[in-house]
Amino acid sequence: MKRIALYPGSFDPLTNGHLDIMRRSLSICDSLIVGIAINKQKKPFFTVEERINLIKDAINENKTLNKENKSNISVKSFDSLLINFSKENYVSMIIRGLRVVSDFDYEFQMAGMNSRLSANIQTIFLMASENNQFIASRFVKEVASLNGDISSFVPKNVYKAIKQKFNY
Ligand code: ADP
Repeated sequence: MKRIALYPGSFDPLTNGHLDIMRRSLSICDSLIVGIAINKQKKPFFTVEERINLIKDAINENKTLNKENKSNISVKSFDSLLINFSKENYVSMIIRGLRVVSDFDYEFQMAGMNSRLSANIQTIFLMASENNQFIASRFVKEVASLNGDISSFVPKNVYKAIKQKFNY
């Protein structure tokens, strides 16, 4: 049976940390769905459509992913319960990235809730790579808004899109 993994998140915006988790996930699954969770309470920086296109383009342009890797990743959005979206897409594992200790509390609770909702879907945590430990979408937006250099945190197309949004 094919092992389908879901990597859910806001990806607002996509960072090099996210891309690294995607690449490494492919070694433990056959195909990966990048799932943009739509949060109606939050006003996003990029719209869902923009984020879908930015992720697709970044994957296409990424040099660490080969042709087969690229064809095994799809990008979707969802506004339903994570576990229901997973079941609809035959997902058997949910991938999350872990950075610092502060990620742990929230992730631990979410994984626990999800395992109670469906015991057949496993949450797998991948530790952030050493050079991506401090990259967070929130800080990328903050630094960019103050005209700081974010070029080493995000893929090239995301960098361009952020620059355009801030008009600099
Ligand atoms: P969410 O709002 O669900 O936290 P994010 O887009 O911020 O969505 O993150 C999605 C997932 O990617 C989370 O599991 C998060 O811990 C992980 N992640 C975010 N940034 C990094 C990074 N620099 N390295 C590894 N994992 C990361």
